[in-house]
Amino acid sequence: MSSQIEAGLATRCIHAGELADPHGSPHTPVYTTTTFAFPDTAAILDVVEGRAAGSLYTRYGLNPTIQALEAKLASLEGAEAALAFASGMAAEAAVFLTHGRGGVVCVGDAYGGTLELIGEQLPQLGIPGHLLLGDELDRLDGLLAGGAGLLFLETPTNPALEIFDIAALAERAHAHGALLVVDNTFASPVNQQPLALGADLVVHSATKYLGGHSDLTAGALMGSKELVEPVWPWRKNLGQVPAPETAALLARSLRTLVVRVRAQNASALAIARAMEAHPRVARVRYPGLESFPGHDLAARQMTGYGGMLTIEVAGDGAAVADGLRLFAIAPSLGGVESLVTQPVTTTHHGLGPEERRRRGITDTMLRLSVGLEDVEDLIADLQQALS
Ligand SMILES: *Cc1c(COP(=O)(O)O)cnc(C)c1O
Repeated sequence: MSSQIEAGLATRCIHAGELADPHGSPHTPVYTTTTFAFPDTAAILDVVEGRAAGSLYTRYGLNPTIQALEAKLASLEGAEAALAFASGMAAEAAVFLTHGRGGVVCVGDAYGGTLELIGEQLPQLGIPGHLLLGDELDRLDGLLAGGAGLLFLETPTNPALEIFDIAALAERAHAHGALLVVDNTFASPVNQQPLALGADLVVHSATKYLGGHSDLTAGALMGSKELVEPVWPWRKNLGQVPAPETAALLARSLRTLVVRVRAQNASALAIARAMEAHPRVARVRYPGLESFPGHDLAARQMTGYGGMLTIEVAGDGAAVADGLRLFAIAPSLGGVESLVTQPVTTTHHGLGPEERRRRGITDTMLRLSVGLEDVEDLIADLQQALS
């Protein structure tokens, strides 16, 4: 089934990109081979010189298992093209090196590795990197007019779940001839379709919701052919392609993406409401709550509010996290198992107390990644840890 067929998202998760297999396997086989044979030298030259599609060498991504995954990934974001990567950071790095050489502006809080890459490492290559928080958007037009050609953001952000207006920021980027790249890891394509809202490219840490089981590391890039194709030689020569085994495992996981994320949305909302009513919880940040400052914007640009929520407890955050039995203390997210992180001890530990204050990250904050356990069990676990 081609990714062009107008089918619903759950149907595309299962059928898009799958190779027809001569033995009747309903799913693409795993081709672990590194190289592929041709009938004659003219045929290999046709692939090498780009006249014919074909499998050639796995590091190039010219491997049937990887290319089938990429057709599925493109379909999930309604994109013309996609590239699979060995990690989310690999996808981001390749995009910045391809399209961000005039400078990269990151708006809002972002993944720690992203902040380091833009703020510390790209400048070592002479690529200006700018980190703006949500209350510094008045500086954005100046930076874009000054030559920064790539605007990057996450929405909802980590860990405060701040919501940025994708359509409005796409317009602002385009007014200066810049590209908007959205990291759609937290929302997943089930809850948010950035390309349809005007973004130029989408990146994912497929390690999170796309993989969904905390058992693989991968990344993805989706967008128009015109913008994705120039990234390909960077991925090839930086050696950032995923292993075929990982590509097959990710395609397996994507087949259940919609049911997983919808169940996580429902459980996260139920937990958010229970926490909002709890006397020992000072604040709940969840885009689906009417009390959340970004709720109206989230309701306009998202089709679901996600499985991530952040609570601020009245008292000792670490003691509450330590008291949880079902939620494991771990820094990642998006898997079938529920996880809890105290941002000050993990994701935002590297920032000093002053920078954390600026970003609104407090010691009492706990970030929850809601899994697929029975929601009653998760709420009971939180209630016993809070009491
Ligand atoms: C985890 C994460 C990344 C980095 O992804 P890796 O697969 O670990 O390289 C980037 N962005 C967000 C929002 C993430 O959560």
